[in-house]
Amino acid sequence: MTWTYRTSSRTVPDAPPPDRRTDLATRLARVRTRIADACAAAGRDRAEVTLVAVTKTYPASDVLHLAGLGVRDIGENRDQEAAPKAAEVAAAGSEVRWHFVGQLQRNKARSVVGYASLVHSVDGVRLATALGRAAARYREQPLDVLVQVSLDGDPARGGAVPEGLADPPPDRQLAAVAEAVAGTPALRLRGVMAVPPLDWAPERAFERLAAVASTLRDKYPTAQLISAGMSADLEQAVAFGATHVRIGSALLGNRPPLR
Ligand SMILES: *Cc1c(COP(=O)(O)O)cnc(C)c1O
Repeated sequence: MTWTYRTSSRTVPDAPPPDRRTDLATRLARVRTRIADACAAAGRDRAEVTLVAVTKTYPASDVLHLAGLGVRDIGENRDQEAAPKAAEVAAAGSEVRWHFVGQLQRNKARSVVGYASLVHSVDGVRLATALGRAAARYREQPLDVLVQVSLDGDPARGGAVPEGLADPPPDRQLAAVAEAVAGTPALRLRGVMAVPPLDWAPERAFERLAAVASTLRDKYPTAQLISAGMSADLEQAVAFGATHVRIGSALLGNRPPLR
């Protein structure tokens, strides 16, 4: 490879264009510093918090760069995009753990259990049943799942609704979803996940999620994980006990608007 030199009297080479890997490395260093600082501020051990790089809309090549930079946990929110990307990354010989973080249709259960290590977004009894059936049939190991919690009681935006918050259909009651997961041998209930309601302060959302997580943990001791915090609010999430932060744009850049 040859660099272009200025034709001026000074023979200083132009800086080579920053390549994607360098760009990702810079952003990753920043995000890792933010997580470490948030852990220090909260008096928590850095090892308690897993960075999940949410690579939706970005190509498999970015996943390979991130894996090369030491990121082992990759998140996706649509099976149509995640399944071929996971296959491409596996074919390149890179081993990463795939996290499914988006709304999941029951008819995608079979596909998702084929590559996911942790499904963050189980929010219905029927979805839990479908995942359990698929996991029993197509996996050797049980599938780890988190129950997605609706923090404002509006199940239209995804999430199962905690008791006393609203009156959702039986399929979407948090206690029923947790029970369905815990009672399915091919699934393992590992904790909770939430996306803050749009108009809420992050502290309010993550404080409520921490309370829900604590109640669930009393009943199901395996439910230790809290998936919370995105690019804009990872510090607040770590302060309220997040074990998994899901970071997209701060790592990969701003996504083009959907649709
Ligand atoms: C896209 C997405 C993220 C990442 O969001 P950023 O704000 O880009 O960090 C996290 N969680 C879920 C469920 C997402 O869909």
